[in-house]
Amino acid sequence: MNIIIFGPPGAGKGTQAKHLVKKLDSFQVSTGDMLREEINNDTEIGKKIVSNMNEGKFVDDVIVNKLLEKIIFDPNKVNRLIFDGYPRTISQAKNLDNLLDQSNQKINFVFFLNVEKETIIKRIKKRKILEKRLDDNTDTILKRYDTYMKITKPVLDYYLKNQNFYEVDGSMNKEKIAQKIEEILKV
Ligand code: AMP
Repeated sequence: MNIIIFGPPGAGKGTQAKHLVKKLDSFQVSTGDMLREEINNDTEIGKKIVSNMNEGKFVDDVIVNKLLEKIIFDPNKVNRLIFDGYPRTISQAKNLDNLLDQSNQKINFVFFLNVEKETIIKRIKKRKILEKRLDDNTDTILKRYDTYMKITKPVLDYYLKNQNFYEVDGSMNKEKIAQKIEEILKV
C-alpha cells in the first residue's frame, strides 16, 4: 500500500507518517527530512538548498524529484511508501504518477489533514523548541503557510478525483487522527 499524507506545514504529517510506518511495516518518504540530511552532511545539494530551506521557500523540483527516484525504484520499498511533504506542486504530483507508473505502483490512499492557520502557528512554535528546526521561526512559518495555500493546496484538486481521498480533521490530537486513519485503512 502506498499512502500520501497531505496538509499544511504543522498539520502532523510527519507524526502520522511515522505511526503508519510502524503499523504497516513501511517506509516514510519525507522530502523535508531528506533535504535536511543533505544540509547536515554538507553535501553539494545541501549547499545549494540551505538558504531556500531556511527562508521557507521550496527547493527546486529537479533536486527533489531526483532524491525521490531512488526510493521509488528501491525493490525493498515497493508498495510500502508513506509520503509526507511530497508532492507539494502539481508538477511533483505528475512526476510521482509517472515514477509510480514506471514501477507498476499506484497511490492507494490520500489523507488530507485539514487544520486552521492559528493551530498550525501554535504547533510549529512548540516544535521549534522540541526539534530545534532552523526554519521554524514566525516569519518562515507564515511564508511556508502562504506558499502552501498558493501552490500546494491546489494539488488537492489533482487527488480529489481519486476514490481513496479522505479529509481528516487535523486539529484533533495525534492519537485520534491515527485512529481515524486506521479506521479508514481497516488496519
Ligand atoms: P517539511 O519538513 O516537509 O516541512 O519541509 C521543510 C522544507 O523543506 C520546506 O519548507 C521546503 O523548503 C523543503 N521541502 C520539503 N519537501 C519539499 C518538496 N516536496 N518540494 C520542495 N521543497 C520541499
